[in-house]
Amino acid sequence: METAAKLALIPGVHVFRAGIWKPRTRPGSFEGVGTRGLKWLCKAREETGLMLTVEVANPGHVREALDHGIDILWIGARTVVNPFAVQEIGEAIGNPDIPVMIKNPLNPDLKTWVGAIERLNRMGFHKLIAIHRGFSFFNRSLYRNAPMWEIPIELKRLCPALPVLVDPSHICGNRELIPGTIQKALDLEMHGLMIEVHHHPSKALTDKNQQISPDALKTMLASLIIRNESGPPEFESKLEALRSEIDKLDAELLEILARRMNIVEEIGEYKKANRITILQIRRWNQLIHERIENGISLGLSREFLTRLLQAVHEEGIQRQLNVMNTEEKLQPPSHFKIDEHTKSDQDHDPRNQGE
Ligand code: PEP
Ligand code: MN
Repeated sequence: METAAKLALIPGVHVFRAGIWKPRTRPGSFEGVGTRGLKWLCKAREETGLMLTVEVANPGHVREALDHGIDILWIGARTVVNPFAVQEIGEAIGNPDIPVMIKNPLNPDLKTWVGAIERLNRMGFHKLIAIHRGFSFFNRSLYRNAPMWEIPIELKRLCPALPVLVDPSHICGNRELIPGTIQKALDLEMHGLMIEVHHHPSKALTDKNQQISPDALKTMLASLIIRNESGPPEFESKLEALRSEIDKLDAELLEILARRMNIVEEIGEYKKANRITILQIRRWNQLIHERIENGISLGLSREFLTRLLQAVHEEGIQRQLNVMNTEEKLQPPSHFKIDEHTKSDQDHDPRNQGE
């Protein structure tokens, strides 16, 4: 009630979201208060005038929510992947005038998301709203669920009439990242936000790191920058899609480097067991020639490749020295300096000498 009362005073807040039945990964965590909470929500609506929305995951939830006159239903990320569940929920709602929000599935699969929207649309539902809540991603990142903005952007392109909201709470998993994410949502012309708010975030029974207080919400919404034409929307969308592509590639790049270093270490162990020296200059010279020619044929510059390979090699040697338990730290890079053929202009730059 306290949260609802404070929210109702914030300009731009129209709907009160509440999980009555909470899908939790492991049993034993707080799974929502269940049906009795619906009465509390009705009271909150009565006192604040806010509309209500609740997550429904099965026909039983739908019946109870509709019996209490919940205004908008939402289908969560774990339910949307299952066409049987989406079909059953649609049938249980029955009335196609009820607004339904559809979160994206956990995995970055636009087809599944569109499939659920299409299924409900074919059943006659015409007040559909998509919610972008980010995607599980193989790589650990800053975000709890990687935003992968190119996916909601593509959804907007495929379904231009469909409103798309953004749920920064589940994307970020962490309240510090929320302001930047909602600004981005605005810059990408998303239609609205679904944000988790708690009158006392540190006491929240679920996901407390991503909850913000009503005051914080008020400040955040007030400080959003409404941009004047920073470029036509197609320009912004394309740019964002390209940046998102870069983010993914960088994550892969780091993963590959880490894997490479692990193999280098394995070689170190093997050399150690067989009493072989770490640095084998012939192998390194041959490797660097091949890599550089290969990289040049892919359009990369000799200078860049030389610096990159040198750095990778130095780290590799250091990792092998660690394996050998050698105290000595690597002194770069004179004793395995790249030969004339692969030398870059940088080698002649006096600023690079005698570090
Ligand atoms: C929620 O909104 O509280 C929730 C459980 O979200 P999701 O389905 O996106 O994980
Ligand atoms: Mn949640």
